[in-house]
Amino acid sequence: MALPQVIIIGRPNVGKSTLWNRLVGKKLALVDDQPGVTRDRRIGEAHLLGLDFTIVDTAGWEDEDAASLPGRMRKQTEAALEGADLALFVIDARAGLTPLDEEIARYLRESTVPIVVVANKAEGKAGDHGLFEAFALGLGDPVALSAEHGEGLADLFEALLPHLEDKQPDNEFEPFDEEDEDALNRAPLKLAIVGRPNAGKSTLINALLKEDRLLTGPEAGITRDSIAVDWQWTDPDTGEERPVRLIDTAGMRKKALVTDKLEKLAVADARHAIDFAEVVVLLLDATRGLEHQDLKIASLVLEEGRALIVAINKWDVADDASALFNGIRAALDEGLAQVKGLPLLAVSARTGKGLDQMIKAAFDVRAAWSKRVPTGLLNRWFDEALGKNPPPAPGGKRIKLRYITQAKIRPPGFVLFGTRLDDLPMSYQRYLVNGIRRDLGFDAVPVRLTLRSAK
Ligand code: GDP
Ligand code: GDP
Repeated sequence: MALPQVIIIGRPNVGKSTLWNRLVGKKLALVDDQPGVTRDRRIGEAHLLGLDFTIVDTAGWEDEDAASLPGRMRKQTEAALEGADLALFVIDARAGLTPLDEEIARYLRESTVPIVVVANKAEGKAGDHGLFEAFALGLGDPVALSAEHGEGLADLFEALLPHLEDKQPDNEFEPFDEEDEDALNRAPLKLAIVGRPNAGKSTLINALLKEDRLLTGPEAGITRDSIAVDWQWTDPDTGEERPVRLIDTAGMRKKALVTDKLEKLAVADARHAIDFAEVVVLLLDATRGLEHQDLKIASLVLEEGRALIVAINKWDVADDASALFNGIRAALDEGLAQVKGLPLLAVSARTGKGLDQMIKAAFDVRAAWSKRVPTGLLNRWFDEALGKNPPPAPGGKRIKLRYITQAKIRPPGFVLFGTRLDDLPMSYQRYLVNGIRRDLGFDAVPVRLTLRSAK
């Protein structure tokens, strides 16, 4: 399915090229460097808070007949509008409306293509006047924007979504924004093992690496006390080799320090590991169960937006294994209410049991942590979720939830648009977040929801 097409229209100098660059992003804006390019249509792929479309810049068409629309500019605009799903009509909010703006508006009012008026250069107060004038164009409510400063993009998203939502590419989850799934698989999995002293971290790392140990030394984001180890993990199911970069935070200092000091350092180590890692394995000791310190480390990992796996080590010497496992499962769900159903595995660093499953789970959770849900699919899910359980009306006043978009990956972050969102109860936000995780395949990855009330 082709991307929907959006065309930018406006008189010279209102900021069309700047807006184009802003929407296309730095990667494709390189096109800008090609000589003569501003004389032609510049077409780029735009990505706005999870909405995908192609964007056509008409800058540079205006020169000859700039004073009069029926000239070359009108012809060009007409041609460009033909294939467009939507036109952004840009005005300069600082300069206010000019006769040429009025003329373009007259022409656009006759067009069947949906128009969104963009009052650009609206940063600060200097744009207020032009913004108010733009209401009078009769082309709907203008969106106040600063292309140069990147302000107002969420409002632009909100204005575009109803027009472009149904034209979004189909239901496939996308992994990275800029890299494809292969790239994700080629990039080493950055994995950290954290846990209290004597949980078996060093033993586990040695068991994983066997003789393949390869020290890569300190690098950015890794403390002096940490070592990054590059390693190839062989998937036992497929025989495929996959790169892993393991961080060993505790290994080095351990010999020098007494245990009660180490206990305190476990949290500090976890912090360092989190800076580095995509996925963190919290290692528990089967002979001690889940302790307060473990929950503290787990919360820290989740607060920092990293994907978390819990592994119960020393399974070879666990008493009453199934009661232990169920007890830890219940305690995790209770103690970490923000993420129910974390991956929980039983392993033995000593015998090697469960280690391949653990690494496999880490790759899976990274894929979920890295993925993007297309806006169309997300909003179909959203409508259904609201249908099943409508938002409450505190004090008899309705809270209106309008759209949701995934604005971020790694970790996934969602933005919810609506009115009176300050009154939206936490329980309802949790309902949405849990639904996103369950229904859209984020599993136990921490998902963030930001609320954005319309003015
Ligand atoms: P175009 O001719 O419509 O493509 O306009 P350009 O994108 O070339 O921008 C014209 C001028 O307006 C440039 O000097 C930009 O730096 C400036 N400009 C663009 N966007 C903004 C904005 O949001 N705020 C302000 N203050 N200036 C802007
Ligand atoms: P660290 O402080 O977390 O790095 O823990 P170590 O790797 O030094 O292990 C602490 C103790 O637990 C050592 O005596 C290990 O031999 C033992 N240990 C580690 N893993 C296992 C395991 O899977 N099973 C058993 N029975 N003992 C283990």
